[in-house]
Amino acid sequence: MIHADVLVLGGGPAGATAALNLAPMRRVVLVERQTQSPGRIGEALPPAARRLLIDMGLIDEFIAQCHVPCYGNRSIWGRIAPAETEFLRDPDGHGWHLDRARFDAWLRHTAVARGAMLLMPARLLSIKRGADSWQVRVATPGGEQIVLAAFAIDAGGRAAPLARQIGAWRRASGRLVCGWLHGSACSMGRGSRLTAVEAVENGWWYTAPVPDDRRVLAFLTDADLPAARIAHNTACLVDSTVTAPEIRAILMESEFVPISGGLPPRTVRCWSLVVRQAGSPPAMPVSVSTRCQRKDCCTRSLADSLQPRWPTSASQVMTMQCPGTPG
Ligand SMILES: Cc1cc2nc3c(=O)[nH]c(=O)nc-3n(C[C@H](O)[C@H](O)[C@H](O)COP(=O)(O)OP(=O)(O)OC[C@H]3O[C@@H](n4cnc5c(N)ncnc54)[C@H](O)[C@@H]3O)c2cc1C
Repeated sequence: MIHADVLVLGGGPAGATAALNLAPMRRVVLVERQTQSPGRIGEALPPAARRLLIDMGLIDEFIAQCHVPCYGNRSIWGRIAPAETEFLRDPDGHGWHLDRARFDAWLRHTAVARGAMLLMPARLLSIKRGADSWQVRVATPGGEQIVLAAFAIDAGGRAAPLARQIGAWRRASGRLVCGWLHGSACSMGRGSRLTAVEAVENGWWYTAPVPDDRRVLAFLTDADLPAARIAHNTACLVDSTVTAPEIRAILMESEFVPISGGLPPRTVRCWSLVVRQAGSPPAMPVSVSTRCQRKDCCTRSLADSLQPRWPTSASQVMTMQCPGTPG
């Protein structure tokens, strides 16, 4: 039996950030199901994240990780000529293109260094309310663990695993899907330090460099449009860029070659979700995991996940306080 003040379910950016901020003051247990990241999309960290990293005392360690600086966004959106948003004029400086696996693992490591207990790999089995704490059963390789915690935070992403166990339901808005893959690419030349976005009929493309001479290529559209077959057939993703000349030119100039033996191509749902709590127990749904559909704010959500102010976090963060727990 593990006694904790706070149980955080989900060791992504939102959960790890909640844990690392609470750990110096509270007994925190962080539960993450995956030891190895399966390869993730969502690599652009906007300049404003610098303030959050400074605020949390993380900026020096973050810089030392050598993620790729991002100097702006280049977009073709409803016009023929590309428009550039340069971070040169941004008071926070440049942003970054992240290695997401490295970034997420580092946040979890920092939470542990600050005193959190990490259960990983560990899977949620059940949650129920006791007299003055949540009783959470978790499956680990060493056997089942029971965590008693006054607070529980659901940072399990769009699946909202913990909240749904206590009767919350999800409402989806939009039907956005994304097909994506990583490829090797040279880090010089056109688009080398930019996120590039290009709208086409029924969707849009984006590409960005990521560390270790790689690049991500992604296509987003609605699941019920014919164009969704492009997102679902990522083996043909590069060929399908014929309708997006800017993206295609960047791929050609960077000598982009899809990584076949490494990370598999992926199709992910990215529609926005709102989590609602049915009746008691007291719970506060404070945010939803979204991929914003506007090109000028498409990199906000990861930074939002780092916000220690949970009400603006991009995660399915739901804090649940047990009756009798001091506020
Ligand atoms: C296609 C796409 C592109 C994106 N691009 C960007 C971008 O460029 N920039 C940006 O800022 N944001 C981007 N985002 C959004 C960004 O990825 C998310 O906002 C961010 O990952 C949310 O972090 P999180 O910690 O809330 O959730 P997640 O990153 O989803 O983390 C949830 C964690 O919970 C764990 N978990 C889930 N269920 C359980 C369980 N039952 N038991 C234990 N653990 C569990 C998971 O393994 C995972 O580690 C993108 C999203 C998509 C879909």
